[in-house]
Amino acid sequence: MQDVTMMGMEVFNCLACYLPLRPPIYQCSVGHFICCSCHDKLPAEERKCSTCSAAISQRCYGMERVVDGILLPCKHGCKKKIAYHHRAEHESNQCRNRPYVCPVSGCRFSGTNAQLLDHFTARHKWKTKRFVYSVAFDLQVQPGYHLLRGGDGRVFLLNMAPPESLGHAVSLVSVKPIARGHVIRCSVGFSRFSGHYQVTWLELGSLSRSDGMLAECFFVVPKVSNGGVMLNITIDDGKLYEEDHDDDNYKDWEDEEVTYD
Ligand SMILES: [Zn+2]
Ligand SMILES: [Zn+2]
Ligand SMILES: [Zn+2]
Ligand SMILES: [Zn+2]
Repeated sequence: MQDVTMMGMEVFNCLACYLPLRPPIYQCSVGHFICCSCHDKLPAEERKCSTCSAAISQRCYGMERVVDGILLPCKHGCKKKIAYHHRAEHESNQCRNRPYVCPVSGCRFSGTNAQLLDHFTARHKWKTKRFVYSVAFDLQVQPGYHLLRGGDGRVFLLNMAPPESLGHAVSLVSVKPIARGHVIRCSVGFSRFSGHYQVTWLELGSLSRSDGMLAECFFVVPKVSNGGVMLNITIDDGKLYEEDHDDDNYKDWEDEEVTYD
């Protein structure tokens, strides 16, 4: 196994589609390499090398072993070594260090989770509302993004879409990933002239990493003509009393004393 840099890696690209070669790999009689999908696209009688027109005749097992053995460092610094032909997939979809993308359409910001949080307040000027877990709080119904910060430093992103026929679609996610087995739930209620509405307890997810998508919208607030609707939100952290939190990502954030009772 060989660790190499990206310099000169083009020699491991398919000569027809320029993508990294991955097994199975074919070659012409002169030794030009072509990937399996380019090979399979050609009708059997026209399997000619795109570089020299010699017939593409055989699989090249030697090259397959070579490309599987060339390991590159991940650009996100996750310490994994990845085969050249698997690197793009790892870096954009699998790496646990891959950057977060701002969910605002047209905003191309990407960065670490902590940088994304800074970006929300510094660039988009979204207001942060502090709340105490398990204690209901009100939020004015107003389209746009709202940041909700719990006493442990965890920040939630609430997005309220402008009203459509049914009302405002509202989604709420944790910005920081929620560990497996850690359940954070949310209950949302709102009042309007025709009565009081309560959404049952829902389990919250976290912000998706690579596409910046929020979780699918999970509740709808009916639109009203006379305004003045308040959301009444309660967020309950199932693990709050069970263990210490790892809040290294948030050490730059101002800490405040919160008492839970
Ligand atoms: Zn190809
Ligand atoms: Zn050739
Ligand atoms: Zn990685
Ligand atoms: Zn942004």
